[in-house]
Amino acid sequence: MNTPIERLQTALETLGLKAVETRLENLLEQASKKEPSYAEFLDELLNCEVEARRTRYLRARLQLAHLPFVKTFEQFDFSFQPSIDERQIRELRSLRFIHEASNVIFLGPPGVGKTHLSVALAEAAIRSGLGAYFITAHDLATDLGRAYREGRLDRRMRIYLAPKVLLIDEVGYLPLDDLGTTIFFQLISARYERGSIILTSNKSYGDWGSIFGDSIIATAILDRLLHHSTTVNIRGESYRLKDRRKAGLVPTREQEGAAAHLSLASDSVSPKPRQKAALGSTPSEAKEVHS
Ligand code: ADP
Ligand code: MG
Repeated sequence: MNTPIERLQTALETLGLKAVETRLENLLEQASKKEPSYAEFLDELLNCEVEARRTRYLRARLQLAHLPFVKTFEQFDFSFQPSIDERQIRELRSLRFIHEASNVIFLGPPGVGKTHLSVALAEAAIRSGLGAYFITAHDLATDLGRAYREGRLDRRMRIYLAPKVLLIDEVGYLPLDDLGTTIFFQLISARYERGSIILTSNKSYGDWGSIFGDSIIATAILDRLLHHSTTVNIRGESYRLKDRRKAGLVPTREQEGAAAHLSLASDSVSPKPRQKAALGSTPSEAKEVHS
């Protein structure tokens, strides 16, 4: 005849209550010391399993999201980027924009935390049970371009339409060809007012014509993307350079000279006047025009 503990272990295994099974001896030992009520003991026992499942579920959802790394808001040093409006970030963290199927666009030069903040929003979304999916603009165009050539674009598109939040990273580092541009437009249109997009770009809206090779289609993309949207414009310096600067491997901002620094910042965040007129969509104008 088995002992009660052995029978318990078999039952826990049959029921798939792995967390309780692993911690059984420990839980029993603690209970014999603390002498909790029956209800308290059952509560602790079942909570142990609930917590373990929640963690497993979260990990699986994070994996499904294909995030390049998992970073949170707690890990972001806002004092390093004073151009970020923390109130705006607080509002985004409420995740209301996801429920409203509105978009978030992070603009700024390399290394200022665009991907970090996007991923942090995705992590928060996943934690609250909302699905997210991460892909770079280049991989997106390659993947959907291949699907189109193989005659299965509609089916493949569903991967990018299904999640509540789609993260499209690095729009603008590489220009898209005609097919990539057409597919990108289709995707933005299909998600319009149905699901959120979080997008990062090193190019100001005025320069988007050069990404898509055509300012008319860039305007059409921006029109849908910005209709319900928040733009977070980061005008700081690269966090990646911070430690190297400290170690003296990179000249300090002062050494670089203010002019060089200004051109780095303005190159990617302020549209050129001509293009501004064509697209009418600097971040602040976009808000005024579209919201
Ligand atoms: P971007 O996407 O704008 O090029 P990333 O988000 O990839 O930049 O940031 C580069 C690296 O620096 C990442 O490891 C990120 O976690 C880190 N980082 C950037 N900004 C900050 C910050 N303000 N506080 C903490 N870490 C940061
Ligand atoms: Mg990035």
